[in-house]
This record gives sequence, structure tokens and C-alpha cells, in this order.
Amino acid sequence: MSGWDRAALEALDGADPLAGFREQFQLREGLIYLDGNSLGALPRRTLARLEQTITQEWGEGLITSWLGADWINAPRRVGDKIARLLGAEPGEVVVADSTSVNLFKAITAALSLRPERTVILSETGNFPTDLYMMQGIAAFSGGRVRAEAVAGDMVLDRLGADVAVLLLTQVHYKTGAVRDMAEVTRRAHEAGALVIWDLSHSAGAIPVDLNGAGADFAVGCGYKFLNGGPGAPAYLFAARRHQAKAVPVLSGWMGHADPFAFEDAYRAAEGIERFLCGTPPILGVAALECGIDLIAEADMAALRAKSLQLGRVFMDLMDEHCAGLGFALVSPREDARRGSHVSYAHPEGYGMMQALKERGVIGDFRDPDVLRFGITPLYLRHVDMLEAVLRIREVCETRAWDDPRWAVRAAVT
Ligand SMILES: *Cc1c(COP(=O)(O)O)cnc(C)c1O
Repeated sequence: MSGWDRAALEALDGADPLAGFREQFQLREGLIYLDGNSLGALPRRTLARLEQTITQEWGEGLITSWLGADWINAPRRVGDKIARLLGAEPGEVVVADSTSVNLFKAITAALSLRPERTVILSETGNFPTDLYMMQGIAAFSGGRVRAEAVAGDMVLDRLGADVAVLLLTQVHYKTGAVRDMAEVTRRAHEAGALVIWDLSHSAGAIPVDLNGAGADFAVGCGYKFLNGGPGAPAYLFAARRHQAKAVPVLSGWMGHADPFAFEDAYRAAEGIERFLCGTPPILGVAALECGIDLIAEADMAALRAKSLQLGRVFMDLMDEHCAGLGFALVSPREDARRGSHVSYAHPEGYGMMQALKERGVIGDFRDPDVLRFGITPLYLRHVDMLEAVLRIREVCETRAWDDPRWAVRAAVT
């Protein structure tokens, strides 16, 4: 027995200091949304903000809004707000481009600070775009630089005099396992390497302390726990001590020291702005700012505590109601090692997730057999965990995955 009956869960919801945040989001009645780690829900305030940005700032203000509505400083302004969630200082984070493109910028910047070293190191099974960007940079280097990936913690043993940069994701996208940022950064620095942290599944979900850990660079997504909307712009962190020396290889005009001088020769901006490339996507930045402002109103310690409790409740209920139904827990059970999603392997995982979607439980599936359930403490309730687990059990009991519609996997899983 898990000890979590409906009354106990309702009592937890009644005492939840974050309960009021749920109504700030547009969420369909009856839906249990366990995929906020892939695409966060829509904050209601975003609708009004985008309407104003479009009709007033763009429609009426036209080009004068670059100054009149301060569009020109938006990447830096929103970057400073994100910095507070990451344990960074104002002027160390900028909003720009996608996470993939920011990985390119961070890796090449780090390589420029370690010109005598030749290896970009990561772990096998890291998020594919992280590995692909490393491989692309290695290919472009014409053999000077190599991309290497090593399994799990062995990556730390691979650190050596040839490693320029170690690229790791703090919360693993599949398993939800959390890496010890301070310890890994210390080990990498000891070996003379720089570290890039991918925070896509950390920012807004778990407390992050980049400067406390002495991190060098970081990147992350705006559309997951930050609720910035589909394809929201991403962010890049560069520790202040590196900014003046790190070479911005994507040397676009917005990263120039004086973009409106229209000089022929590139001169990098002094600070974090050198990691801007082209004209910022203002509609996307405006939506992202709404998500950031909302999460900034919540206490991070309370967010983390609720996220961990929801995860524990979910796992306890899975133990109670779905034992013997073919699930294997993929995520760490231990709180300190778990991020903000819980994953299970199941041989019928893909079809099961499709059947769950038809029953109002949205999570996602990651090849080959992993069901991911995102825990977003801003808008999930404890009773949602019970409702989700009961629907999972029903899908198993009826073998609802046996459906010819799901014989071929969709383009997005
Ligand atoms: C989601 C995610 C990305 C996504 O990168 P995009 O450029 O936004 O597609 C990158 N890295 C990690 C670890 C992720 O979880």
C-alpha cells in the first residue's frame, strides 16, 4: 500500500503553497498534462502580452518600437531574469537562437579558450543535438578537433590533457537523473578543461547554481519548464571571467560592439552581447518573458519540494496500482538524484502513450521503450498523480496499445 488515497492527496493539494499558480495557466478541464518538460503549458498572461506586442508595439509603433518598446534590449533584459533562476549574475545570460545553435556558440567559444587542446567530450546517450553539434564542429575543424562520447561516469575518467571542453546535461532528458554540477565542474577544472552545462531540463525545475559551481558556459531551452511557448528562444550563459576572451564564432552584427556603426570589420561586444548573432525574435522573447516572470513569482525551494513530492507520490502509486504490469523504473528513486520527470520502461511504451493521450493523460515516449512523465509543480496537483496512474492501469488491463493505428510511429513521439 502506498498510503496515498484520494482524501490524503486532496489534503496535500489543500495545503499546497503553490496551488494558486494553476489558474494562471490555460489547461483543459480533465486533462492531466505530464509533458511540461517538453512543452510547457500556456500562461494566460502570455495571450494579453502577445496581443499588445503585436497590435500596439508592432502594429502602431512599427520600427520605432526597437527603442520605444525597448525591443533592442529584450535579449539582455530577459537574460538577466533567467540568470536569477540559474545562480548567475546580471550580464551573464542572454536570450538568443535555439539551444542547438547556442551549443555551437558555447562549444566554439570554449575551444577558443583552450586552443592547445583537441577534444570535445560528452557522454553517450546525451541529448542527440548536443552530440550532433559536437560532431559537426569536429567535422568542420578539418581534423584539428575530435568529438568523443564516453558512457556514464566514465566520462570523468576520460578527462585528460587533450580535453578542451566537457559538455554534459545536468538533468538527463531520458532518465531524469541529476548530475552533481559542482563536483563534475571541479573535476573538469582540475584536468584543465572547461565545462558547458545543458540546463534544458533543469532551469525552472530544480535549483541551479552556476556560479556556485564555478561553471564556464551553459545553455538551455525556453519552451520546457520556463513555459515560453513552442520554439521559444533559448539562452546562453558565459561566466563573466570568460566573456572578453571567448571568441564568438557566429559573429553576427547583433554581437558587434556597435551594431549601428555598420563597420566592415567585426569587433565583438565586450560582454554577454557578443553571443547574440542576428535580429532577436521579439514575439518569441515577449512570450518567454511572460513564462519567466511567472516562474519568478514562485519560491524555488517550494517548487523543488513539491516536484519531488509529486514524483514520490507518482512512483508510490505506480508501485501500488501497476505492479506486475511490465513497468521498470528508469529514474532514480532517491530525491537528491532525480530531476523533475519520472520515466518507466515498458515493452508496449509507444502504443501505451498513444492510448493514454486518448484518455486525457499526456506524457511522451522516447525510443526504444521509455515513457516519460513530466512533473511540473506550477500546475500539477497531487490528485492528478492518482488519476494518471489509474488511467495507466486501465490501459494495461485492456491492452489498449493493441491498435493498428499505432503500428507505425508518428513523426513526433
Ligand atoms: C530539449 C533539449 C534540447 C533541444 O534543443 P533545441 O535546439 O531547442 O531543439 C537540447 N538539449 C537538451 C538536453 C534538451 O533536453
